[in-house]
Formats: sequence, structure tokens, C-alpha cells
Amino acid sequence: MTISNSYRVIRHEYDVVVVGAGGAGLRATLGMGAAGLRTAYVTKVFPTRSHTVAAQGGIGAALGNMEEDNWRWHMYDTVKGSDWLGDQDAIEFMCREAESAVKELEHLGVPFSRTEDGRIYQRPFGGHTREFGQAPVPRACAAADRTGHAILHTLYQQCLKHKVSFYVEFFVLDLIMDEAGQCRGIVAWCLDDGTIHVFSAKMVVLATGGYGRAFLSCTSAHSCTGDGGGLAMRAGLPTQDMEFVQFHPTGIYPAGCLLTEGCRGEGGYLTNADGERFMERYAPTTKDLASRDVVSRAMTIEINEGRGCGPNKGHIMLHLEHLGADLLHQRLPGISETARVFAGVDVTREPAPVLPTVHYNMGGVPTTIHGEVVSPTEDDPDHIVPGLMAVGEAACVSVHGANRLGTNSLLDLIVFGRAAARRAAEQIDPELPVPSAPEPVVEKIIAAFDKLRHADGTYTVAQLRERLQRTMQAHASVFRNDTSLSEGCAKIRALWKDSQQIALRDRSLIWNSDLMEALEYQNLLANATVTIESAHARHESRGAHAHDDYPERDDKDWMKHTISYLDAEGGVRLTYRPVHLRTLTDDVEVFPPKKRVY
Ligand SMILES: Cc1cc2nc3c(=O)[nH]c(=O)nc-3n(C[C@H](O)[C@H](O)[C@H](O)COP(=O)(O)OP(=O)(O)OC[C@H]3O[C@@H](n4cnc5c(N)ncnc54)[C@H](O)[C@@H]3O)c2cc1C
Repeated sequence: MTISNSYRVIRHEYDVVVVGAGGAGLRATLGMGAAGLRTAYVTKVFPTRSHTVAAQGGIGAALGNMEEDNWRWHMYDTVKGSDWLGDQDAIEFMCREAESAVKELEHLGVPFSRTEDGRIYQRPFGGHTREFGQAPVPRACAAADRTGHAILHTLYQQCLKHKVSFYVEFFVLDLIMDEAGQCRGIVAWCLDDGTIHVFSAKMVVLATGGYGRAFLSCTSAHSCTGDGGGLAMRAGLPTQDMEFVQFHPTGIYPAGCLLTEGCRGEGGYLTNADGERFMERYAPTTKDLASRDVVSRAMTIEINEGRGCGPNKGHIMLHLEHLGADLLHQRLPGISETARVFAGVDVTREPAPVLPTVHYNMGGVPTTIHGEVVSPTEDDPDHIVPGLMAVGEAACVSVHGANRLGTNSLLDLIVFGRAAARRAAEQIDPELPVPSAPEPVVEKIIAAFDKLRHADGTYTVAQLRERLQRTMQAHASVFRNDTSLSEGCAKIRALWKDSQQIALRDRSLIWNSDLMEALEYQNLLANATVTIESAHARHESRGAHAHDDYPERDDKDWMKHTISYLDAEGGVRLTYRPVHLRTLTDDVEVFPPKKRVY
């Protein structure tokens, strides 16, 4: 008897299956559905609960509604923000597409805040400047401080309009890969009735978001467990640039929830225990609006040198009180509430305590600008995996390189979600039958699920996960060094060993959160392992990767993407892939590397 006989297995066929219904997944789904492809999305949380709903500050586009702006300035800022690790052709594509992407959202019904004359309101954001770094420019298109909420709800409603199928509260277990290396579908577990679903598809799109939860303190939702990276790596596919983890300067101390960079965009500023506006020393031109890695490092240095605030000198202060209650109420209502609930602070009267907190993963599954997953071979660094795409935070195009600018993630979701849909519509013929998924592979996936469900070791999921999160927080933080990274790698190896001894208490199939968290833990561990190993191997400092033993950027040896593979025992293999120092068209020239000052 095969293992699948002990489960109720239901089979489906689609042209496209999108895994994840955040901003990226819904924008891709919308485009595929509109193109007449039989499309389904499969999501572990209800679509409008995806982490995109929490995005606050805005979506970047050089609309020039407040002041003159230009997509080339946006492109320059993004290249510089990426510390020259971003691919310039992809960055050109994103910044050029930005205007039409945002206007399309407007037409779909996103309720953006407005200027007096009725245009989309834009605010300044870290690292966004005019005339190639001269001064901050308002580029973040905002719906108050609830931009992600507005976008996600609009996209969800638009998807309802098209004939797409929804599989909500389904947990995707693994990709079905055939012998030729083509993706043929996915296997998912229905959380509310315990059935197993085999989806055969011509194209699978990973839109599973980031893995902030690999760290102890992060701004991400509990669902951000890097499942897409886990799925890809278990299928033998690589991830790219995983060492680059963004810390957001203003997580509320100590809870870690986010106070948007829009706070500083609207005129907020940071002070140390001496009441000094210290950013003036670190970034004389852009000050509090320097890019996130720069501000997070400055804050960490202030704290490490004894100028932190509070009884333990453990945090920094964010001031908004001078902006006045009216402006705070109109432009930043959400963060006023967050500060009250999580820090007991009334931001109209007093500063809020803040600390750099894990916020975004620059790394992910490598793709082309059309969303196609790339798996480099010896003769082709851009080799495409048939049948598989990735979009959003789960992917690495790479437009963010070593450090993402605020507002560029929402933009990435929409631009590349749309691009993936266009490419799928070109390539997929809805008239052709869907080839059925190879049975032995399906059987193997169900067997692994069954084994985990019955695991009877010594450590609970919560124990293992906390060890993982503490290790990453301590050893892959804002500043890193050789000693701490090698200790961190050893602790992760020990975790792989102990994870063999995982213990589940609940063997049921219906709303078994113990089992779901165990599956998520496996994905977190996979992402964390390649993150810390890639960080240990990169002997330079670039963007979010600040290595004390190699404090300078080294373009000669390290201007290259890290490609990481993980084996079933937790072993990591690293290779490298060239950064695209080329543009897509002749409308703009390559921005040659230079020192990054703000
Ligand atoms: C608090 C906060 C504020 C932010 N503010 C901004 C901002 O102002 N501007 C900006 O540009 N960026 C911002 N960001 C970043 C940006 O919001 C995220 O990078 C982006 O929303 C990620 O979108 P996504 O569609 O890739 O993934 P998500 O929105 O995280 O969605 C992931 C989807 O995948 C599904 N999924 C995952 N695993 C599985 C599985 N195994 N099976 C089935 N389904 C699965 C989930 O159910 C979910 O639907 C912010 C991030 C945070 C955390």
C-alpha cells in the first residue's frame, strides 16, 4: 500500500497555480486571470491577511506630483541604495514601469491620499533623491500610512472579478519537479479538513513573501517563514544573495512593530541620550533620510558607544511631537495607534523608543525580469527553470541588491507580478492539456509530510524555533564578524542535528497548528542556514552586510551575487554569478560604482 492511500487526495488541473496571495501573488493572479488562463491561487492565510497589508509608508514612482522627478533619478537612487549589487537592467525596468504600475493601481481603485489639486500625494523616503543625490525628493505614493492595506484590498477585490479559483488556508508542502527539471505542480494540505491536494499546472508561481521570522525581533507577520525559499531549495534549486537582511531603523522598542520611515519622511528625527540629532554626523546631506542600512548602523554605533536612551541605554528616540496633532492624525494615524498600544507613548506629546529591527529579505529565489526562475549552469549564468516563476519578496530579481530602498518593495510586487503575468500569457497555450504530475514525486512529498506528522523526538517546535531565532539575532545582526559568524554557523549545524529529534504532540490533520509550525520551522531553518553561511563567506562590507573584519566594499572580488544550494542534511554549497552592469535600453547609461555617501 502506498502512503497516499491513508490520505484523502484530491486532484486539480490549472494553467497556472500561484502560491501566495499577498501583493505579488494577487497582482500576478489578476494578470493571468485577465489573460484567460485557468488560474488558481493557493494561500495559507486569507489573502487580505498577507503581510502586504501591513505596509505603511508608500510605493515608489517618479510621478513628480509634488516636485520635479525623473525615473532616471529613481534608478540612480536604487542602484546606489543596492550598493551596486542590484542588476541595473532590472532596476531600469522597474523604475520605468513604476509610473504606469501606480497609475494602474489608481485606476483599479486604490484610495491614495491626495494633493490639494487632486493628484496622488507623495512623501519623501530614505535614499530617494533628486538630480542623482542632491536632496530628498517626495516619491513615495501613499494612502495615509496604510498603503499596503489599500493596495491589497483593491487587488483582492479585482481578483474576485475574474474567473480565478481560490484555495484559502491551504499550506503548500512542496514543488513537484520532473526528471528533466521542469516544475509540474505543487502538493498542498487543506488546513480545515485535512485533505491533500495535488495541483498539476503548466506554470507555478512562488509569491510566498519573506522570512523575517528567522530572527527573534522583526516587523514581519508570523506567516513570513520563507516557505518559497524552502520549497525551491528542497527541489534542488538555488537562492540568491541571502546574506543581505534589512534592519529597519525604527522598530518600536522592545516589541519590534514598525513605525514607518514615512515618519521621518514627514519630518520626524532621531536623537540619542544626549538629545543630539546624531544622523547629521553620519549623513550630512540626507540626515535622517539616509538609506536604512546607514541609519541602522549609526543607531547601533550610538548604542554601542553608550549614548543609547532609557535605563539600559538600549534604544534611540524618534521625535514626531513637533509635527503637530493635525498632521499626525491625517498622515500617520496608524503609527500613532501602534506607538500608543505597544510603547504606551502619545506621539503628539513625547518621542517613541525605537531600535533597528529585521524588516526585509533582499535575497530570494533568483529570477529574470519576467519572473522566470533562474538556476545558473556552468555555461549559462541565466539558465531558466521551465514551469516555475517567483515574484515579490520571495524572489531576487535583483533590484534591491545589498540594500532595498523603502517603497521599492511594493513597487517590485506590482511591476514584477504584472511582468510575470504577461510572460505567462505569452508562453502558455490554454488549449493544450495540462500534463499530469509524476506520481512517484507526489508520493515522496506525502511520505515526508506523514513522517513529520508522526515525529516523536525530544524537542518541541517552539524550542527549536526559539534557538534558531536567537542564533540569527545574535550572529547575523546589523554588524557581523568572523568569530561571531563561525559560532553562528556551528550553532545552526547543531540545530540541524537536533531537528532530527523534533517532537509533535498533535497527530490530527484538522487545524493542526503544531504540524503547520513544524513545516514552517523547516523552511525557516533552510533560509537561515544559507543566510548565515553566505554571510560568513562574503569577505567585504556592502549594503546591509556590515562585516567588522572586512569593513570596506570590495568591487574587485565581491561585486557578484551569491548563489546558495542546500542539501537534505543542511550542507550548503555556494557559487557566484555576475552582477548585470548593463542597462536594458540606450535611454540611460550604466551608473559606475562609486563610494556610497548620503
Ligand atoms: C510592517 C511592514 C511595513 C512595510 N512597509 C512597506 C512600505 O511602505 N513600502 C514598501 O515598498 N514595502 C514595505 N514593506 C515591505 C513589503 O510590504 C513586503 O516586502 C511585501 O508586502 C511582501 O509581499 P509579498 O506579496 O511578496 O508577500 P506577502 O504579502 O508576505 O504574502 C505572502 C503570501 O504567501 C502565502 N504563503 C506563504 N507560504 C505559503 C505556503 N507554504 N502555502 C501557501 N501559501 C503560502 C501567504 O499566505 C501570503 O498570502 C513593509 C513590510 C513590513 C513588514
